[in-house]
Amino acid sequence: MDRIKMNTIVEMDGDEMTRILWKTIKEELLLPFVELNTEYYDLGLPHRDETDDQVSIDAGEAIKKYHVGVKCATITPNAQRVEEYHLKEMWKSPNGTIRAILDGTVFRTPILVSGVKPAVRSWEKPITIARHAYGDVYKATEFRVTKPGKAELLFTAEDGETRRATIYDFECGGVLQGMYNKDTSIESFARSCFNYALDAKEDLWFSTKDTISKQYDQTFKLIFADIFEKEYKEKFEKAGITYFYTLIDDAVARVIRSKGGYIWACKNYDGDVMSDMVSTAFGSLAMMTSVLVSPDGNFEYEAAHGTVTKHYYRYLEGEKTSTNPIATIFAWSGALRKRGELDGNAPLIEFADKLEKASLAVIESGRMTKDLALMWQGSTPTVLTSDAFISAIREELESTLK
Ligand code: NAP
Ligand code: MG
Repeated sequence: MDRIKMNTIVEMDGDEMTRILWKTIKEELLLPFVELNTEYYDLGLPHRDETDDQVSIDAGEAIKKYHVGVKCATITPNAQRVEEYHLKEMWKSPNGTIRAILDGTVFRTPILVSGVKPAVRSWEKPITIARHAYGDVYKATEFRVTKPGKAELLFTAEDGETRRATIYDFECGGVLQGMYNKDTSIESFARSCFNYALDAKEDLWFSTKDTISKQYDQTFKLIFADIFEKEYKEKFEKAGITYFYTLIDDAVARVIRSKGGYIWACKNYDGDVMSDMVSTAFGSLAMMTSVLVSPDGNFEYEAAHGTVTKHYYRYLEGEKTSTNPIATIFAWSGALRKRGELDGNAPLIEFADKLEKASLAVIESGRMTKDLALMWQGSTPTVLTSDAFISAIREELESTLK
């Protein structure tokens, strides 16, 4: 069989257990079938340290050039990691660096299999959470107040004009927080969400607390409404999908009663909390993909989970671990499919579809990694090591490609 040809995508290698899986997935599931054409960036912590993290910036810039990237999970260093890897500095999260370069929004989608029933019985289709990963409480300035006094909000314009408002006249100690967001970032968020909805052909929901936050959250609501009216309304009608704004309280109630099958756009904090809730209710982080979409059409695919450190330490001791490679496989299939769509490369799209089908078929035949077996409902599952599981997927894939 001739291997499938493709244009370049950006490949970002990572750390620990996921780095081990990355290599096996390429060797077993990709290279035998596809003439993988990647520009390789090693975002493993040792190489980030060697390059003073320049490699993360270069990878982000490369995604801008090629429009599609696939990333392995990476360590975000903390004090313990600085010691463990003898780092020069506590480098920033590569995801944060790449997100800042691409100005993107992160969409997280669960991968459903028949034997893992969502905790919410009505959910039949995936719910994708779009999180505005900029500003608000994550970039807030805050401090404690320890004696009575007046707290004010002060804005000094470049031209010297000032605006001032009293926040509170403290008669005792308390806390204060000032946060912000930018129109440009909210606009990018809105466009990424509208584009993603068109791409996925799914309805888009957006929720904030604009009844209470009459300026802040209201601004989000108005920017979304304005961009939708001017740029997306007709496209949505043509695609047969809808845009729907509602209060976050109402959204939560509707989500729980829904069947799934839509995108739920959330402000930064809401998205942080709700994506953990939704992923847990669907089953597991190991079955969740994540894609960063920029408003000008760049896509970066990855697994939603981390580097699975505990498994890696066991692997280093010689144990054959049963780490779930599904989300990492789907990161690759997502990137290959997108490459195929952008280039009109039908064989590549077909391969991505078949790779996903083969992966799920193995699970549904009762063979899976330990994390899934623990949640499995129905016939008794067979627990496989990662290697055996990936081999089973390869066999299944080969049978469908013949
Ligand atoms: P994690 O790697 O997601 O793992 C947490 C636990 O979840 C694991 O110990 C394991 O549970 C389970 N798990 C996650 N993925 C799994 C998989 N594919 N198969 C089977 N079980 C899986 O999170 P963490 O331990 O908090 O973080 C480890 C490192 O990852 C950190 O250095 C962090 O900075 C990094 N991280 C990176 C990203 C990213 O690159 N996007 C995201 C999050 C975290 P059991 O041990 O019970 O089996
Ligand atoms: Mg969180």
